[in-house]
Amino acid sequence: MADHRRYPGCRLLLFCGACTWSKSYRPERIIARLQELRVSGHTTPVTDVAKRVGWNCPSCGRMRWGSQLVYPAELDEREARRLVRQIRS
Ligand SMILES: [Zn+2]
Repeated sequence: MADHRRYPGCRLLLFCGACTWSKSYRPERIIARLQELRVSGHTTPVTDVAKRVGWNCPSCGRMRWGSQLVYPAELDEREARRLVRQIRS
């Protein structure tokens, strides 16, 4: 997760691998949460963040999370979906 410092303004995109639902978070918030859970934080690989998600997708109810740092000046819904498709393929 420490990588986010090299990309000011980047977001952590959490996306569902089963449908198209996704949400982006501020990396600082994710790190704080990881530290709260005592599973490191800064040293946690970005892709491991998805494994720590303990809730089901609000859209399809499954738990197939993926996570990726994205660098969006303006990450809107459509852009997020495009990224999710790109990440999966
Ligand atoms: Zn889903």
